[in-house]
Amino acid sequence: MATSAKNSIAAHPKFEPVIGLEVHVQLLTVTKIFCSCSTRFGAAPNTNVCPVCLGMPGALPVLNKRVVEFATLAAMALNCRINETSIFARKNYFYPDLPKGYQISQYDKPLAEFGFIEVPAGAGKKRIGITRVHLEEDAGKSLHEGFPDSDDKTAIDLNRTGVPLIEIVSEPDIATPDEAYEYLTKLKEIILYTGVSDCNMEEGSLRCDANVSVRPRGQKEFGTKAEIKNVNSFRFIRDALEYEIERQIDVIEGGGKIIQETRLYNANEGKTYSMRSKEQAHDYRYFPEPDLLPLVVGEKWKAEIARSLPELPEVRRSRMVKDYGITEYDAQVLTFSKSLADQFEEAAKAARNPKRVANLVQSELMGRLKSKNLSIEQSPISMQGVAMSADLVESGTISGKILKDLYDLSFERGKDFPAVYEEEGCPQQSTDSSALEKIIDEILAANPKQLEQYHAGKKTMLGFFVGQVMKASKGQASPQIVNELLAKKLGS
Ligand SMILES: [Zn+2]
Repeated sequence: MATSAKNSIAAHPKFEPVIGLEVHVQLLTVTKIFCSCSTRFGAAPNTNVCPVCLGMPGALPVLNKRVVEFATLAAMALNCRINETSIFARKNYFYPDLPKGYQISQYDKPLAEFGFIEVPAGAGKKRIGITRVHLEEDAGKSLHEGFPDSDDKTAIDLNRTGVPLIEIVSEPDIATPDEAYEYLTKLKEIILYTGVSDCNMEEGSLRCDANVSVRPRGQKEFGTKAEIKNVNSFRFIRDALEYEIERQIDVIEGGGKIIQETRLYNANEGKTYSMRSKEQAHDYRYFPEPDLLPLVVGEKWKAEIARSLPELPEVRRSRMVKDYGITEYDAQVLTFSKSLADQFEEAAKAARNPKRVANLVQSELMGRLKSKNLSIEQSPISMQGVAMSADLVESGTISGKILKDLYDLSFERGKDFPAVYEEEGCPQQSTDSSALEKIIDEILAANPKQLEQYHAGKKTMLGFFVGQVMKASKGQASPQIVNELLAKKLGS
């Protein structure tokens, strides 16, 4: 868990912050929400456009069915109630990158409402409410640099106009910048699991605005809020909130008043700056979009969409802890992405002993990754490789010592386990009992005192002898066979 070192806000004696987050997530459909233009990122400016997304008079929007399915799936994963009927609305405002003069969004009848996300809080969990999840189209982009004349001109790229978004609005339930960070982390994890977005912040697939106000502790009414817009990392949002909360407290304590406004965060300076006074919802003159029918997601369609809802990370982690006997921490690492968790489970189930796969991940893989500062996704040894190595140990073909050596070689060479195993000539642990018997005789002869203790009834000495034989065989012997041979020699 990433927790800020600064706990001053949570501990402020007189004031408490109230935070709500608005997150825009781009849906991973191939085409835009109301036309068949491509949503591909990075295309040459103004190449993915048509009369609909350019806002030409008379061009009519046609709703992309896949967009509705993705949005509904995301809303389900966020524990929302899906409204059978929702209404598209025009949000009217002028901006150079909005050729229609309005954005098609949803207003008083959104697609989904009343959801929640649980975030870690102290030893337990805290539920953060989700007010609504609604559909909307993205606007275009103003470019201020990177083209001729950009010193004194602004260019417009309309490729992004009409790209499908969902807006996820939280309740003002978030009490600290750390909680905001946890909420966003969980939100992103859940959305990634559903596969409806890549949540890539650099490409603008996930954007977050934060509403924040402060009020005297114990007061019910909210203070006047400021909106912090377009911060491009979760860490910066936490920092921006820290700064903004302190700023508001300073203003109030200095006898000033907070004005409702939109502020921008400058990450280099760690400060927020006033951008414009904040418009109210009624400034947008919302009205129902006359070119689109009410959106109806009936029971049958809803049930179909629900069938593609994957097991979500929280539930999956608890199950994996139970099924494989792994720690909470390892479950956390192994569920970092859905694909990793899938790989792990597939490998574990295909192996002779799933728990051994989990144990190897825990005992042999994680430590090596950590010491090399690699994420599990960068591991040279794949989950299939771990499963193969687990089977070789399980069958007694290789010893734990050989496995460790092969893992070391895998990391040195940056190659997966099966390749290294083959390169090393498919080593096997020694099962040659005549050679082992010779070693055992030597060990027993060299340790008469321990042998005496054993015969006097100290049966735990067996472990000592096994250890000595294993050491003498340089880890090549099969512990099972050593045990058997020793037991025979010692006459027990
Ligand atoms: Zn288009």
